[in-house]
Amino acid sequence: MPSHAETLAAAGLSETDLIGGSLTVRSPLDGAEVAQLAETSLADMPAVIARAQGAFAAWRQVPAPRRGELVRLLGEELRAAKAELGAVVTLEAGKITSEGLGEVQEMIDICDFAVGLSRQLYGLTIASERPGHRMTETWHPMGPCGVITAFNFPVAPWAWNAALALVCGDPVIWKPSEKTPLCALATKVIFDRAVARFGDEAPEGLLQVVVGGVDVGEALVTSRDVPILSATGSTRMGAAVGPKVAARFGRSILELGGNNAMIVAPSADLDMAVRAIVFSAVGTAGQRCTSLRRLIVHNSIREDLVAKLRQAYGSLTIGDPREDGTLVGPLIDQGALDGMQAALSAAKAQGGTIHGGTPVDAVAGGAYAAPALVEMPAQTDIVRTETFAPILYVMGYETLEEAIAMQNDVPQGLSSCIFTLNVREAETFLSAVGSDCGIANVNIGPSGAEIGGAFGGEKDTGGGRESGSDAWKGYMRRQTSTVNYSAELPLAQGVKFDI
Ligand code: NAD
Repeated sequence: MPSHAETLAAAGLSETDLIGGSLTVRSPLDGAEVAQLAETSLADMPAVIARAQGAFAAWRQVPAPRRGELVRLLGEELRAAKAELGAVVTLEAGKITSEGLGEVQEMIDICDFAVGLSRQLYGLTIASERPGHRMTETWHPMGPCGVITAFNFPVAPWAWNAALALVCGDPVIWKPSEKTPLCALATKVIFDRAVARFGDEAPEGLLQVVVGGVDVGEALVTSRDVPILSATGSTRMGAAVGPKVAARFGRSILELGGNNAMIVAPSADLDMAVRAIVFSAVGTAGQRCTSLRRLIVHNSIREDLVAKLRQAYGSLTIGDPREDGTLVGPLIDQGALDGMQAALSAAKAQGGTIHGGTPVDAVAGGAYAAPALVEMPAQTDIVRTETFAPILYVMGYETLEEAIAMQNDVPQGLSSCIFTLNVREAETFLSAVGSDCGIANVNIGPSGAEIGGAFGGEKDTGGGRESGSDAWKGYMRRQTSTVNYSAELPLAQGVKFDI
C-alpha cells in the first residue's frame, strides 16, 4: 500500500506544496494529517475574480467547438490520470477504490458529453407576427462561474459544472470543500496539462482554485462579477447562499441535501431489490446526496425483506477502503460518526428498533461504523432529517397512495424509486401524482445517476439542475433578437404610433 505522501506525489502534489499553511487536511482513512495548506486570503479574492473576468473577455470569443477541444483534451488527461486521481479521492474522501475511480470516470463522461455539446449550443428561430421580420433566440456566454463543492463528491460535481461552463464560454472559480481541497489541486494539475496542450487560446485564469472555508465561498457568493454561482452541499448552506445570490440578481444553481426513499411493492423482485438497497444505503458509507435513507415496504413482505437485509448487512466488509473486498469505508470524520450516533439515539427515542450502527474499530484514527437498519413505527422527525451516514429507516405501508404520500412527505426532493413488476404502480409513481423528486427510478436504486440526464432535485434540495440534458442553459444567457428586413416599421400587437 503506498504511503499518503506517495499517493499525493503520484497525483502531482509534491510535499513542499502541502506544508506551511493554516488549513489542516486529514485523511479519513486513519485521521492522519496529510497537508497544512495555504488558504486563499479574502484580500486576494477581488484579484481572483478580476482574473476570471479577464479570462472571460478572451474565452467568450473563442468559437465554442474550439472550447470543446480544450474539454476533449481534459477528458484525455483525466483518462491518463484516472488511477492517480481516484486514489486521491479515496485518500481524502474515504471512498472505496472502485467508487473513487467511478468518480473520475464520471468526470471523463461529462467531458465527452460537453465536447459534443460544444457543437450543439442550439438557439431557436421563431415565427414573427410581423411581415418581413425574423425572430431568433441565441445563447451567449454568461461570465465567470463560481463552483462550490461538498466533501462527499470532491471532483465529479466540479466536472459537471466546469465541463459545461467551459464549452459555454465561462471561466470557472472553484472553491472545494475545506475537507477535500487536495482533490481540487490534483484536478487542477490535470487541467493545466490539458491547457498546455491546447495552447495560447486558453487565457490565464480560465480555471482558478481557491482554498478555504465559508468566508472564501462567500466572496464568490456576494460578488456581482460572478454571475453564476453553483453550490453543492447541505440545505443549511443553500439557505445561506441562495438569498445572497438572489439579492444581487445573480443566477444560482443549488444542489443540496436529499432524503431519498425506495418503495418496495408486493410484486417486487426481492433479490434485485436487496442488491439495490444495500448498494444505495451503505455505498460511500451512506454519504451520497442520493443515498437511500428511507425504505417504504409493503406490510405483506416487510418481515421477509428486513430478514434478507439483516443477513446482507451482516456480510459487509467494513474497513480500509483501499483494500480489495472492502465495501464500507470510513465516515469523513469523528463529527460525522457522532452525528450518526445521535441520530440513532433520537430514532430509538422515537420508537425505532435498531440493528447495527455501532462504531467499528477498523483502522486506528478513522471513524468507521457498521451501517444501521432501523425499523420505525412511523415517519418521525428524525426520519424526515438527512443524517449524512449509513442509516436506513424501514417503514411499512398498505396502499400505494399511502406509500407515495410518505415518500413525498419530507422537506427534501432529490431522488426516489419504486421496485415493482406492476406497470400500473410503476407508471403511477412516475406520473404527476407520483414522486415529487427530481429523480424517480423504477427497479433501480436512488443513487448512481448517469451524466446524460439532468441531475438535481426540488424543495429543500434547491431546484438546480446540472450535468446532462439541457442543463447547459444554466451557464449561458439567452438573447431574443428581432430583425426587420422590410421597408416598413410595423409595431407588435398592431399598435399605431404615427409621427
Ligand atoms: P456543507 O454544506 O457543509 O459544505 C459544502 C460546501 O459549501 C463547502 O465547500 C463549504 O465550505 C461551503 N459553504 C458552506 N456554507 C457556506 C456559505 N454560507 N457560503 C459559502 N460557502 C459555504 O456540505 P458537506 O458536508 O460538504 O456535504 C454534504 C452535504 O452536501 C449533504 O447535505 C449532501 O446531501 C449534499 N450534497 C448534495 C449533492 C447534490 O447534488 N444535491 C451532492 C453532494 C452533496
